[in-house]
Amino acid sequence: MGDSKELLLEIKNLQKSFGDRQVLEGIDLQVRKGDVIVILGPSGCGKSTFLRCLNGLESVQGGEIQYLGRNLAHDHVDWREIRQHIGMVFQNYDLFPHMTVIDNILLGPLKVQKRDKKEALQQAEQLLDRVGLLDRKDAYPRELSGGQKQRIAIVRALCMNPGIILFDEVTASLDPEMVREVLDVILELANLGMTMIIVTHEMGFARSVGDFIVFMDQGKICEIATAEQFFTQPATERAQHFLDIFQ
Ligand code: ADP
Ligand code: MG
Repeated sequence: MGDSKELLLEIKNLQKSFGDRQVLEGIDLQVRKGDVIVILGPSGCGKSTFLRCLNGLESVQGGEIQYLGRNLAHDHVDWREIRQHIGMVFQNYDLFPHMTVIDNILLGPLKVQKRDKKEALQQAEQLLDRVGLLDRKDAYPRELSGGQKQRIAIVRALCMNPGIILFDEVTASLDPEMVREVLDVILELANLGMTMIIVTHEMGFARSVGDFIVFMDQGKICEIATAEQFFTQPATERAQHFLDIFQ
């Protein structure tokens, strides 16, 4: 969040309730171009709900989500359009089972973005090559390992050329031996300057990839610190307790 970088996303006092239960109690966060922000916090504290609000998958009850001069928390937003700019990768890949890898990847670029097929295909193949899966482009999701599916899901998000990508525990469903290959793809994106908000329980990864750690508890941000600060000297007792459990 160095001030010299362009402000991409500014969240102010974001409020989210399910019925009468408030799940996000006034979240404030600034995301600048190139930031890699890692969100940590105990299960149920609102991490997924927060990301889902940024992708239009949950309605919000108050506050602002400012993105390129627009308030996305406002009712009249075309989320199909916004999702081209703010991509999201989920825990369970959600590739379409009846479509091949390449068709899954090209669906958004062709159907939503109406791009030229040859150009989109070229980009998709380049991205597949970069994650080591070009030879699997005609496979169906059921023929792939979990780690491969998750790398495909990342390529699918990237192929829309988003300005920001949100990752929600993308390795949480993977067998341990496949976690690394997915984290390495995200690390490479970080090195390329991609702006990302990452929810993860992989502490070593969080420390190495994150410019900033946002620590959430019970619907609030308790602490924002550099990864170095957070992991060596967290400011709050709640964060220290959280780290004690994981380390
Ligand atoms: P996290 O991702 O940090 O584990 P979530 O954002 O998934 O937490 O959930 C935050 C809280 O909101 C939890 O108490 C959860 O039970 C509740 N919650 C999440 N989604 C819904 C929903 N669709 N309806 C009702 N409650 C929900
Ligand atoms: Mg979650």
